[in-house]
Amino acid sequence: MLIKEISTCKKCGLHRLRRNPVPGEGPLNAKVLFIGEAPGEKEDEQGRPFVGAAGKLLNKLLEIAGLSRSKVFITNIIKCRPPGNRDPTDEEVRACIDYLWRQISLIKPKVIVTLGRHAARVLFNKANLKWDSMSQRHGHIYPVEILGLKIILIPTYHPAAALYNPKLRKLLEEDFKKIGQALQREDRLTRPRTLFDYLALKGNKVS
Ligand code: URA
Ligand code: SF4
Repeated sequence: MLIKEISTCKKCGLHRLRRNPVPGEGPLNAKVLFIGEAPGEKEDEQGRPFVGAAGKLLNKLLEIAGLSRSKVFITNIIKCRPPGNRDPTDEEVRACIDYLWRQISLIKPKVIVTLGRHAARVLFNKANLKWDSMSQRHGHIYPVEILGLKIILIPTYHPAAALYNPKLRKLLEEDFKKIGQALQREDRLTRPRTLFDYLALKGNKVS
């Protein structure tokens, strides 16, 4: 099983320093997958993603998007904490990334939201899109194909970057509003039509 494999993984040097690996959490049938960078101190302590200060902000942002944390899947590019929260190296990303591809194949999310430039770059590469900068790309909606799945990819800033930066926080809040709207549109497109919807579409009064 994937979680067990991750918990005993020694494919890169980070396994020596971790207290707990952080495979990610959420329902396997989640429609939305959030991908951060790597576990921090609190995450390493608890073995759960986004439980520190950035996680608290993420919870507020999820609310803005009308999402409940228990309905989304949350994971990271890297499953073990880099010392001192340094950026993951390319070698560590190469060693770990297969776990993320397997998670995507299992969950088959309709929407992937990347948090921060590391996750954005990796997912853009996978979708054969050129990544340039967050200021250009954040909050935009990219219909892509990843691992044979049609996915809506939405890059945004990392909540940790917004903790002490009110401007970034505002941008994140706006992006999460857009994420909520995109999800509602998705829902309307994929939900089976009921007589109620049919009448509403025809402009009849249905109340
Ligand atoms: N930052 C991340 O990128 N991931 C976490 O799980 C926590 C903080
Ligand atoms: Fe394995 Fe990934 Fe942890 Fe490295 S970071 S030891 S590749 S699970």
